[in-house]
Amino acid sequence: MSDDKSMIGTDVDFDREGLQFGSLKIPHSVHRSAYGHIRIPIAVANRGEGPTVLLTGGVHGDEYEGPIALARLVRELDMSKLNGRLIVIPAVNYPAFVAGRRTSPIDEINLNRTFPGKRNGTITEMIAHYVTTELLTRADYCFDFHAGGSSLQYLPTLLAPRWDDPADKQKLENLIDAFSPPNVVYYDSIRALSGEDRVIGNYAYQNDAFFFTGEFGGGSTVSVPGLAVVEDGLKSVLAHLGVVPEAPRSKPKGPIRRLVMDNPGLYAFSPKRGFWEPKFELGDEVPEGGMAGLIYDLDDPWAEPVAVHFKHAGFAVCIRTFSLVEAGDCLGHLASDV
Ligand SMILES: [Zn+2]
Repeated sequence: MSDDKSMIGTDVDFDREGLQFGSLKIPHSVHRSAYGHIRIPIAVANRGEGPTVLLTGGVHGDEYEGPIALARLVRELDMSKLNGRLIVIPAVNYPAFVAGRRTSPIDEINLNRTFPGKRNGTITEMIAHYVTTELLTRADYCFDFHAGGSSLQYLPTLLAPRWDDPADKQKLENLIDAFSPPNVVYYDSIRALSGEDRVIGNYAYQNDAFFFTGEFGGGSTVSVPGLAVVEDGLKSVLAHLGVVPEAPRSKPKGPIRRLVMDNPGLYAFSPKRGFWEPKFELGDEVPEGGMAGLIYDLDDPWAEPVAVHFKHAGFAVCIRTFSLVEAGDCLGHLASDV
């Protein structure tokens, strides 16, 4: 539908052979810049008949393993050996990325809660709409790299949608084996972890783009092991798809722990305002009813703290970084073996 055509323009030609660096240009007329626009860096590498792979990082602006790995992949790409098309955007929510924030400082919107976006929406909604209508429509595969952002810290964990079709299931298992993460969590292919259907993965699915995502660190810093998992995994997956030649991994493939987090009892939330003392660490095997933490009163140091428990047993993959909590803040979560 042409009247739904995105207002975001670009100086890259998705069909041209070779390696191009350019930007997505979002019109942004403001007080200090009447005819200005925001530029989101993009690279397109195109050669041969192989599949189109959309690689995205920085959907949340305070997650760094994706942006580092994707930019390095492009810088080190041997174009003479490429077979396919890579569309690479290291920081999709660029205004959030330059601000080091999960949400955009322009409209306070979380990009991964606004898909499919709006042509005439705010800046973040326009980005989501562009990804949905111009990028996912071109992609055979989309791999989207995340971390826990400022408020959460994750063990490196691939998140893979569950497929019903046996052929898709096998295709996904082959991709997981190629990526070889220490942990993989399977989730519903339409809805993300907490029942969200406004996420990029849902619209990848609707556009027949084979999708996975993952959490590879957090705390608004770079996880050294998480970054190694992303870089090794990405190279191996692209080699598995025949897009780049096989390259040596920095670490040999290890065992993959297969997990789900579909039980609400695996999550712990603060019931009140205060600050918290964690009672678990990443990597712990938490028993049923195990304590997540104690919430202390900010004003009364003599008040008994409130204990928060996990209702379901599991393996601790995520923990809150900030000590201050409000009622409803996630203290962390577990995952249980498949
Ligand atoms: Zn994220």
